[in-house]
Parts: sequence; structure tokens; C-alpha cells
Amino acid sequence: MKFFQSISFRVTLWYLAILSIMLVSLGWGIHVTLSNRLYQKLDLSLSDRAEHLKGFRDVLSIIASGTFEDQAGESITFYFLENDRLHNIAPKGNFFPVSKEIIERVLSGETLFEDVHIPQKGSFRVFISPFIPANPVIMPDQAGGIRQQPGYEQWLRDGGFVPAPPGDDKPNITQSPNQEKGFNRRVEIESAALVIALPSEDIESVLGHLCNILIIAIPLTLLLAGGGGIFLAHRALNPVKKISDTARRIEESDLSRRIDVGTKDELGFLSETLNQMIDRLDKAFNRQKEFTSDASHELRGPLSVIQAEASLSLRKSREPWEYRKTLEVIISETERMGLLTSQLLELARMDAKKSQFVFESIDLNEFLHEICEDMAILCKNKKLELRTDLVKQVQIAGDRKSLRRVFFNILDNAIKYTANGGSVRVVLDEKNRMAEVSITDTGIGIPDDSLPHIFERFYRVDKARSRSDGGSGLGLSISKDIIDVHKGRIDVISQMGKGCRFIIAIPKI
Ligand code: ADP
Repeated sequence: MKFFQSISFRVTLWYLAILSIMLVSLGWGIHVTLSNRLYQKLDLSLSDRAEHLKGFRDVLSIIASGTFEDQAGESITFYFLENDRLHNIAPKGNFFPVSKEIIERVLSGETLFEDVHIPQKGSFRVFISPFIPANPVIMPDQAGGIRQQPGYEQWLRDGGFVPAPPGDDKPNITQSPNQEKGFNRRVEIESAALVIALPSEDIESVLGHLCNILIIAIPLTLLLAGGGGIFLAHRALNPVKKISDTARRIEESDLSRRIDVGTKDELGFLSETLNQMIDRLDKAFNRQKEFTSDASHELRGPLSVIQAEASLSLRKSREPWEYRKTLEVIISETERMGLLTSQLLELARMDAKKSQFVFESIDLNEFLHEICEDMAILCKNKKLELRTDLVKQVQIAGDRKSLRRVFFNILDNAIKYTANGGSVRVVLDEKNRMAEVSITDTGIGIPDDSLPHIFERFYRVDKARSRSDGGSGLGLSISKDIIDVHKGRIDVISQMGKGCRFIIAIPKI
């Protein structure tokens, strides 16, 4: 079998598919959870910072002085509108640029968290919230000032990000048309936004690291799991190979081999079931062999007698009465052979299920009466008493011809094996849903060790005894087969020297 068609390969493939889905989901879950946690923490510290900052009375001078930035590494910028112009206050003029669209949204009252990437400066997490200081702002004159963003007009047109030019830390003061010279002036703020940004590089690098680990670890795990999976599947399915190897070696002529996988699992159970099946086949084949040899042996017996008788009488000329005696022996032997061959034919038909059973409703009481009447003459010849004790009206479904054969066989045996002056009793009764017929004789009985074999084909308690009566050992076995077809049962109890009782039970209708 090709490896790609094997169960091991398919099981491993399924296992890998499921494992990869699980690993990718797990990796994705870890990444999302970690990223959420880290950004939540960052967002919390940004919003705390904003609240803290908003609490100061002279917040703008604090922003302009850069004290906060120096302490915590944040970028803080205060955006505000004055006479429809956007200005910002930032430490040393280094404002943190955010897109025009975002500023406009915040100025109209929204609070936002954004991820911003500034070339050369890196990635930032930005918190932008609307903020109008309670009092009109007096701009400080020493540490900062109102500064129109360099390149801001361009930035507004592009809607993009423009970083503050490096090294431009000299305050660049824009003067409004109504603005006086100098820094100490009052600014009426209409609308403003506080921007606080913290670098998110650390988080990104942690998450990037995690990604790299997952990208290497997941395929590596799948590779190892695939190898392990193939090994384990191969090991687990090894007994199957053993089973098929043994099964291939078992031939019709030699059914002695048995499968031994040495495990107590499902495959062990399978091999046990197969062994039981081989056992049954073995027994059936042996039975068939025995049957063939028994049948030929039984046929050879009368043939040898006929041959011996004929050749003996031909050896010299004989008296007519001697020829007559020889012919009588030959006729009796051919009768025996005729009976035997018809019994064999019947068994063969029963085995091939070709026997034509015609089921009809039978009143067993009437039926047994008829049979007993037929048998009465045989009893009379042997001076046997035939007694019947039949309950009225027991209906069964059965094939008349074959049931007649059953009762005839058993009654014939009872008469055959009961000495002159004895008795045979036929009783019909009903028990539960069964019609029960018992045929009891006061004959020689059957020894205990023979009782289990009495229904086997060609079994005779005493070959000499039975053969002299013309028996072949097939009568009871045919009877049992017929009763089986009627879904009934046949049993025997016996005591040596005292007699036998055959009990036949057939379902009633
Ligand atoms: P057969 O045709 O040789 O009688 P059966 O199958 O009818 O064969 O019976 C099998 C054997 O059972 C007989 O050989 C006989 O020894 C024994 N047997 C059957 N019925 C009786 C009986 N009523 N009493 C004693 N032995 C019996």
C-alpha cells in the first residue's frame, strides 16, 4: 500500500490540520490579548496624565516650559483656535503633529486615542481630548509662546503629518493682527485640544518579538507533531498489518492459524472476533470433512456386503434357496443404501436451504393421533403398549411432511430400542407459548456420555447395535434440523436401562 493512501498518513494530515488551526488561533489570541493589555495600560497612563495636567491653573506655562516632557518622556501639545486660526503651544515649539481631520473632530468635542507614525521619530500612541482652560490664558514670556506651526498651512492642505523641523527649538512667535508685542498677553480661547503622545515602540517591539517567536515556533511544532503523529499512527496501526498478514496466510486447507496482536484494545477485540470466526469456519470445514468420510464409509459397508455375497455365490453352483438367501441380503443392503442416500439428500437440501418447507396451520392433537395410529402396528408386532395423552386443540404452524418425519423417527427409535412388553407414551401439552410433545419409552436408554452427541450426524451410541437395526445415525440429526427450522427445540433425558424421554417444543399460533 502506498504511504499516501495509508490511514497513518490521513490521520496525521487531519491531526496536523487541526493542530495548526489550534496553534494559529492560540498565537493570534495571545497576540491580541497582549496587545490589548499593553495598549490599555498605555491609554490609561495617557488619560491619567491628561487629567493630571488639566488640573493645573497655569497649564499652558507648564506645557511651554517642557517640565512634564522632561520628566516622563511624553510629547504634549496644546492646540487652540484664536480668531479662526489654529495655534499650538508646545515645549520649545516642538509641537506633536496630528492630522487635520483628527484635530477638527476633537475640537468639535470628541475624545480620541490614535496610533501615529512619524518618520524618523517612530510610532506613538496619542490621546487627544477637548480642553478649554477655565481662565483666559496669560501667555508666559520667558519659556514659550504662541507659535504658528512651521509648515502648518502645507500640512493642513495635505492633511498629513509634518514633524517639527529638528533643532528648531527657538520660540517662533506668530503675532495675531490684534496682538500686542511681547508675550504677556491674554488669549481668549474658543476651542482647544490637548494632545499627549507616548512612544509605542516598546509595545510594538514586544509584539513584533512575539510574532517572530510564533512564526518560528508554530511551523517547528507542526513539523515535530507531524513526525510524532506518523510514528504514533504507524505504531497504533501496526497490529492491523499483523492481522492482514495472518489473514493472508490462512488458507482453506489450513485454518489452524490464529491472529495474535497481543493487545486488549479495539484491535485486540477485532482479532479475537476474527479468531472466533476462523474457529467456526475451522469447525464447519472439519464437520464437512467428517461428514464426507462418514457418508462414504456408510455407503461402502452395504456395497462390500453386496459384493461379498454376490462373489461368494458365484464361486460355485449353488442350491436355489442359497441364491434366494443371497438375493435377500442384497435387497436388504440396497434398501439400507436407499434409505441412507435419501437421508443424505435431505441433509444436503437442508444445508443448502433448498428444502421446500410449506408452512400451514396444524392441529397437533389430530396430527399426532394419525401418526400414532400408523405406528400402532409396529408396537403390536413388538408387543409394546402405545399410550397417548393428548390435550385438545393445539395449533402450530409447520410443514406436515417434515414434522411427520420427526415424530416418526423418534417413535421408531422408541419402538426399536424398547424390548418386547415395554411401553411407549406420547403426551401433548402446552407450556407458555409452546406446544410440547414428549415421547417416553421404557427401553434401553442412552448413556450419559452419549447424550450431548445424540443429535450429531452419524452419531450412534453403539454402532453394532444400531446398524443391525438398519440405523445410520442420521435420524435425530435430521429431526433437530427440522425442529430448528420451526424455531422450536428438541431435548432428551434418559436413564440407562430405564428408558428415554424426547421432548419437542414448537411455538403455538
Ligand atoms: P439411527 O438411525 O441409527 O437410530 P438416530 O439419529 O435416530 O440414528 O439415533 C442416534 C442414536 O441414538 C442411535 O444410534 C441410538 O443408539 C440412540 N437412540 C435414539 N433413540 C433412542 C431410544 N429411544 N432409546 C435408546 N437409544 C436411542
